[in-house]
Amino acid sequence: MMNLQRPASRFACATAVAVFMLLLCCGCGKNDDRYGEQVSANSSAPRAAGKKLNVVATISIIGDWVHVVGGDDIDLKTLVGPDGDPHEYEPVPSDNLELAQADIVFQNGLGLENWLDKLLLASQSKALRIVVTSGIQVRGIPAAEAGPFATGREDDRDPHAWQDVSNASAMVSNIAIALGAADRPHASAYRSRAYDYVRQLSELDQWVKDQINSLPPARRKLVTSHDAFGYFGQRYGVDVTRSALESVTSEASDPSAQQIASVVAGIKSAGVPAIFLENVQNPKLIDQIADQAQVKVAPSLYSDALGQPGTAGDTYLKMIRYNVNTMVKALSQ
Ligand code: ZN
Repeated sequence: MMNLQRPASRFACATAVAVFMLLLCCGCGKNDDRYGEQVSANSSAPRAAGKKLNVVATISIIGDWVHVVGGDDIDLKTLVGPDGDPHEYEPVPSDNLELAQADIVFQNGLGLENWLDKLLLASQSKALRIVVTSGIQVRGIPAAEAGPFATGREDDRDPHAWQDVSNASAMVSNIAIALGAADRPHASAYRSRAYDYVRQLSELDQWVKDQINSLPPARRKLVTSHDAFGYFGQRYGVDVTRSALESVTSEASDPSAQQIASVVAGIKSAGVPAIFLENVQNPKLIDQIADQAQVKVAPSLYSDALGQPGTAGDTYLKMIRYNVNTMVKALSQ
């Protein structure tokens, strides 16, 4: 009984927030890049009767959700595909046409897609712009977490909200509301698919909790090459504060021996049996660092993108299961 009620009430709550934001912002075309990045909308051109909605999703994870909710009732294009890094996206010429033709663009917001404003402007897109993280509890990035290698990034909001499965429910609900508002004849289909999926998300959320809780508390520590797992750690009780690996694995120039030594010392003091890579990055030096710290390198986690079709991470549900299975296996050894 609880399993049926919990997602329903969460869905209703997120739905109410999304509707509110949509109504609130409809017609305010200006998009303040920090505080106004909620659900902002330009008036979109009326579609011909019977024509499917043209929908663009910025990243593969959001694309997966839009596909689940929209089904065959929409035409969907995703800009940053599987294994693509949304922080460093290099637009391709076809993006321009896809955005120009789009009725709705779904984005994560929270500073993830800093390249999108320019693309939308260049394409003269009239699309509704929906920030799917609207209404979620945004996680700030604590200064301490950036560590001695802080890059002085402009945006201190953590964009990786999808790593908390309960956030995914809210984001999927936002997608269903926005699609339904733009395409009323299919609104109940969008709502019903979203409802079914949110139930699966709710089960997945509980499964992740159970899996992480199966690890001894001292083993619930994640050392990764990029700080994508803050929301995950917060939701499921995993310590991800020692992620300075990024400083030595993603820099253009080779890190100094001193930097490497500092990261190795950090891993050793964390007392973890394994460190983790991510699918959107190609870290150098990781084997050397793992060797010096006397830990294993676990298989790559899916952080900011789904895997290629046919891989263990080619949908959001699969990617979360794969990540958690990989973590539990590597950390329990
Ligand atoms: Zn990221």
